[in-house]
Amino acid sequence: MEKSVKEIMALPGDGRKITVEGWVRTKRESKSVCFLEISDGSTVHNLQVVASREDPRYSALIPRTATGASLRVTGSLVASQGSGQSVELAAEEIHLYGEAPADTYPLQKKRHSFEFLREIAHLRPRTNTFGAVARVRSAMSFAIHKFFNERGFVYVHTPIITGNDCEGAGNMFQVTTLPLEGPPLHEGKVDYSQDFFGKKASLTVSGQLEGEAYATALTKIYTFGPTFRAENSNTSRHLAEFWMIEPEMAFCDINGNMDIAEEFIKYIFSHVLEHCPDDMDFFNSRIDKEIIATIGNIIESRFERINYTSAVELLEKSGESFEFPVKWGIDLQSEHERFITEKVYKKPVIITDYPKGIKAFYMKQNDDGKTVRAMDILVPRLGEIIGGSEREADYEKLRARMAEMGLDPKEYWWYLDLRRFGTVPHSGFGLGFERLIQFATGMQNIRDVIPFPRCVNTLDF
Ligand code: ATP
Ligand code: MN
Repeated sequence: MEKSVKEIMALPGDGRKITVEGWVRTKRESKSVCFLEISDGSTVHNLQVVASREDPRYSALIPRTATGASLRVTGSLVASQGSGQSVELAAEEIHLYGEAPADTYPLQKKRHSFEFLREIAHLRPRTNTFGAVARVRSAMSFAIHKFFNERGFVYVHTPIITGNDCEGAGNMFQVTTLPLEGPPLHEGKVDYSQDFFGKKASLTVSGQLEGEAYATALTKIYTFGPTFRAENSNTSRHLAEFWMIEPEMAFCDINGNMDIAEEFIKYIFSHVLEHCPDDMDFFNSRIDKEIIATIGNIIESRFERINYTSAVELLEKSGESFEFPVKWGIDLQSEHERFITEKVYKKPVIITDYPKGIKAFYMKQNDDGKTVRAMDILVPRLGEIIGGSEREADYEKLRARMAEMGLDPKEYWWYLDLRRFGTVPHSGFGLGFERLIQFATGMQNIRDVIPFPRCVNTLDF
């Protein structure tokens, strides 16, 4: 393979022979020369190719090299005459791989709306914004593995098809090979014993329960994989298919959990600033003028830690009129979360000890009998980015809570076993990868930080 545009642009313009391969972003012509901006996605910058319109070796091709065309160009790398780039390629040979006719290729304008680009999700990676998002997403994935690897965590692959619903909620996608038009029935109900697994199965909403099995053996583990939730709402923060990072730590209480979560977020953001400076400059100038400063502040700040009860008092005393009225016991809505992090503290806030009624069965119960050792991390502009807790490690308490919530202990027999045999205090959290990317890039809509978004009524690619 030839050198990438990124590598070429770091070379001196000393006349050396170079071949570049990529796609034409823009083309400008004067009477005798033609300027082609070439991108290969290795950087947000383009390599300028200068071609003579009269050079017999390739002049016949010039009219066919419009925006979107794919080329291989060989020439000499020279110091650029124009501003904006230090080197440019003086073309000697051009090979046209494929044309992109201007009357049908959709990416003609300099800037298209994100709504329009969602309709051509297969071509949007060829734009500056989606190229930058893809590179930052990749760099962040790498940083996630690096963070955990450096701290001795074991990467565990938890299953995607599951027989239990982690959150006890109803928003799961069912997996079946039964004919939906006429499934086999038993006493009027669908007979799942005839389904593929001999029982009802779904796509996972979280790898946590299985993660706990590995944490209570390997001590520090994490999962990083796809997660599915049939979110029946159109928000800018929810996808039906998203990627989740879920560390789980044995011998770790809620304080250790908060420490690692805070350290994690700062580490990932520092990595992005250090390793994706061009893409971050691009986001800062085109998407959100404050993004680099905002991320810098988060890296420098100490996350505020308050409990739910004081968060509710704070909201009640705020004098703010919220769409959803606040009183002790409610689940905090995005407007409340944003008020707390944006208006009150102006930095990330960790809220702990939520009412047990609004949290999952597995969270450790506090002695007050009312709250559980949950911890959610809220950030400006997005609200919740992390949801975690210390887990209930006491067999009897866990069983009792499951009974209260109408969960069948038989379905969770193996999960209960983790408390029957060598139980230990342990904690973990879940972080939606796309929310983290939204935060890091300033991209407003979660559908624009994943290559092919899946949402209610949207499955076009
Ligand atoms: P929310 O209230 O925002 O729907 P949640 O309480 O359902 O979040 P958890 O079950 O705690 O979220 O999941 C852990 C993390 O996964 C969340 O903090 C968030 O970052 C992310 N997340 C949850 N649901 C989605 C979704 N539908 N799309 C993208 N990310 C999500
Ligand atoms: Mn949710």
